[in-house]
Amino acid sequence: MHVIHLSVECFPLAKVGGLADVVGALPRYQRKLGIDAWVVCPYYDKPFTRDNDFLSIAKGSFFQGSEELHYEILKETENSLGFPLFLIRIPGKLDRQEVYCYPDEAEQWIAFQHACLDWLKNSGTKPDVINCHDHHVGLIPFLTKYANDFKEFEKVKTVFTVHNGQYQGWMNWSKSILLPAFDTWKWGLLDWDGLINPLAAAIKCCDAFTTVSEGYLQELYTQANGLEGLFFSEAAKGYGIVNGIDDAYWNPAADKLISVNYDVESNKKGKAKNKKAFCEKYGLDETLPLLTYIGRFAVEKGADLLPEIVVNVFSYTENKISIFILGSGDTQIQANLQALLAAYPGRLATFFGYNETLAHEVYAAADMILMPSRVEPCGLNQLYAMKYGTIPIVRGIGGLKDTVRDISEKNGYGFVFSDATSEEAVSAIGRALDYIGQRGKMQRVRRKEMELDFSWHKSAQQYVNLYNQL
Ligand code: ADP
Repeated sequence: MHVIHLSVECFPLAKVGGLADVVGALPRYQRKLGIDAWVVCPYYDKPFTRDNDFLSIAKGSFFQGSEELHYEILKETENSLGFPLFLIRIPGKLDRQEVYCYPDEAEQWIAFQHACLDWLKNSGTKPDVINCHDHHVGLIPFLTKYANDFKEFEKVKTVFTVHNGQYQGWMNWSKSILLPAFDTWKWGLLDWDGLINPLAAAIKCCDAFTTVSEGYLQELYTQANGLEGLFFSEAAKGYGIVNGIDDAYWNPAADKLISVNYDVESNKKGKAKNKKAFCEKYGLDETLPLLTYIGRFAVEKGADLLPEIVVNVFSYTENKISIFILGSGDTQIQANLQALLAAYPGRLATFFGYNETLAHEVYAAADMILMPSRVEPCGLNQLYAMKYGTIPIVRGIGGLKDTVRDISEKNGYGFVFSDATSEEAVSAIGRALDYIGQRGKMQRVRRKEMELDFSWHKSAQQYVNLYNQL
C-alpha cells in the first residue's frame, strides 16, 4: 500500500511543535509494517536543507489567480529519516526560514497543496491514501474530489489527522480565486460561517479523520473552536489514535544530547548526574527537587498561569524547590516570567527560545514536569518526560487524561488535576513533592513510568488498520 503524508512540519526538517515529531516518526514505523509511506513537505531555508543532499526530480507550473508559480520537487537522496522525503520549492512562497507567521499564509499553503497535486498528476503517481496533517493541507480532501484538473484522484482515499483543532486556517472568500478551478456547486463544502475554513472542509470531505488521542476526539464534540456540531455530525468517520514517541530518538539509554545515559536500572544515579550537570550550568541548587515546564507560551498550554504558579510554589515550599522554564511564544508571558527572575536567584532559571538539545537535557535532569494545559490534543512532553523518569503533573484533559494515571488510582504513576488554575496546579505539585520526599516510593513510580510502552509500534498499526479498512 502506498501512503503519502502531507504536512508543513516534519522533524528534523522544520519543527514548531508535536506535529513535526509525529510526521518525522510515524511514516518510518509504518514502513516497518510494510507500507510504502512517503512524506511531502514545503521546502525551507533551514539547516536540514543546507546540510543534506537533494535531487531535483520534477518541475512544473500553475496559476494562482493571475500569478504563475513555478515549482520544483526535491527528493532527499539518502533517505536519512527512514522514509522518502520530498520537498516542494516555490521561489518567494515555499523557500522561507520559518514555518509560520507570514502575512500570505493562505497563498503559501494553497500553493503547497496545488503544486503537490500537480506534481503527483504529471508524474502519474496515484497513492492509495493521502494522509493530511492539520489545516494547512485541509483543502486536499476537497480538491481531490472536486477540482477540475485532479479528477484522477477522486478515488484516492484521504485521511485527515487533527493535531490541533483550535487553528483552522480561515480565509476570506475573496481568496477562492487562488484555488485550482473546482466544481462551484460544491462551494458549501469549503464554507463555515461565511469563511473558507480548510479544517471544516477537510472534516466534511475526507474519507476518515483521526485525532491524536481518543480523549481529544470526545472533547471535539463539545469544544472545537466553533466546529463542535460538524465533528459531531461526522463522528462516524472519526478515530482517536494516540501519538507514540520515537524511541530511537527519545531514549535516555542512547540519547546523545544528554550528559549521562541511563536506563531503568541505572535511573537513580543517571538522573542525579544529569541533574548535577544541568543545575551547575543554570545556577540552580541540585539538592532541591527540580520542576520544569517545556513548551509554547500559549494560553491553550496554560502558560499564562506560570508566573502565578511560580510565585505560589515558592511560597508554599518556602523556596525549597528549583524551577526551570523552557519556552517561547507570547511575549507578555515571557516578560512576566522574566520579571520574576531577580526575586528567586538560584531557584528560578529560564531559557526563552526554542532549543532541542536543551529540551533533552531538561527531560533527563528534572524531577517533575508541569503541564497546566487548557487544550491538549495529545501532548508529547509528558510521554518524553516519563520515558526519562520525570514525573508528570498534568491537567486531566485530552491526551493528558489518556496517558497519565493519577497516583491515587490503581497502578497510578503521575499527578492529575482537573481545572486549569494556579491553585489546582500548586496543590498537585504539593502532592508530587510529598511523594518525592519518600524516596522508596518515588523510585518505584519512576521505574514504572520508564517501563510504560508509549512507542509508535501500536499506534502505527492502528493507522495501517484504518488505511486497510478504507
Ligand atoms: P504542541 O505541538 O501543542 O506544541 P506537543 O506536546 O505535542 O505540543 O509537542 C511539543 C514538542 O515541542 C515537544 O517535542 C517539546 O519537547 C517541543 N518543544 C516545545 N517548546 C520547545 C522549546 N522551547 N524548545 C525545545 N523544544 C520545545
